Amino acid sequence: MKKILFLSLLIAFGCKQIETSDQTSTPTFGIVIHGGAGTILRVNMTPEREAAYREVLAEAIQVGHTILKNGGSSQEAVEKTIHIMEDSPLFNAGKGAVLTSDETIELDASFMHGAQLDAGAISGVKTIRHPISAAIKVMENSPHVMLSGVGADAFAASQGLEIVAPEYFFTERRINSLKRVKEAEAKKESISSTEEAFVQHQRYGTVGCVALDLEGNLAAGTSTGGMTNKKWNRIGDAPIIGAGTYANNATCAISATGWGEFFIRSVVAHDISALMEYKGLSIQEAAHTVIHDKVGGLGGDGGVVGIDSKGNVAMEMNTPGMYRAHMDAEGKLNVKIYKD
Ligand code: ASP
Repeated sequence: MKKILFLSLLIAFGCKQIETSDQTSTPTFGIVIHGGAGTILRVNMTPEREAAYREVLAEAIQVGHTILKNGGSSQEAVEKTIHIMEDSPLFNAGKGAVLTSDETIELDASFMHGAQLDAGAISGVKTIRHPISAAIKVMENSPHVMLSGVGADAFAASQGLEIVAPEYFFTERRINSLKRVKEAEAKKESISSTEEAFVQHQRYGTVGCVALDLEGNLAAGTSTGGMTNKKWNRIGDAPIIGAGTYANNATCAISATGWGEFFIRSVVAHDISALMEYKGLSIQEAAHTVIHDKVGGLGGDGGVVGIDSKGNVAMEMNTPGMYRAHMDAEGKLNVKIYKD
């Protein structure tokens, strides 16, 4: 009898505890973005250029933040935030994407939703103004996760997404970059350190966004032109679920940027989530381990942005810089470019 009484008390107390903790955990939201990691050095930056980057980062994150603040979904916040960066010629995604060795544009993007682990991705597309939206359409309206090439372009058109002429994406800056990278490649060992730094910097510039909404849903998206001078329809990590993008409501949402081959081999985004899920690491510890020990250990470089189910964030890199910004539920904006 005593035992039963004790057990009932225990159950009642346990329920009370659960009730109390449910009542006190106020839903929160947050958003983090990146505009690429790489050899971003103060010496190579003009105040005007830096201001231009800061302005677009702030504008983009504000769009997503407003959606989340008004109770909108993390999916919508990620999509609309990335649109701003895809439309800016400053970033290597959408307008302003880097050129392939054949002087063409091949865009990659992916999206993942943390509730049911739904995902969509496209690779090597040439005519979609907002590749992130095409990735979302693949997730929502196709039986597949990843589409590529002309088929992916056709699918996007059939979904009513905005289609543009391939020339839309070309910018003078990227045409010149391709020329310089090709010249540097031809010179190989004899290139100067300034030229080497330039080449390194041209490789990157992907954009990405992760968000947590008031419903507790996490979402992640990444969009890129890939690497300058890429050949043979090369595909990087950005459209690969688990490498460049991952979201799971139980852990975190991650978007990566950097040397894609190393990010694929390290399965970066999923590895961060797995360290949280199986080893109980915090998002910062997990991101630090994967970027520095794993990617860095293999000789790769780059960074990630992430947010967990409580709104904790990580902005980790092993490069001199990463264009990035974070906005919490209070609306505090934090825009950063350099590592320090
Ligand atoms: N990760 C991208 C790629 O390898 C490049 C970048 O992040 O800028 O295609």
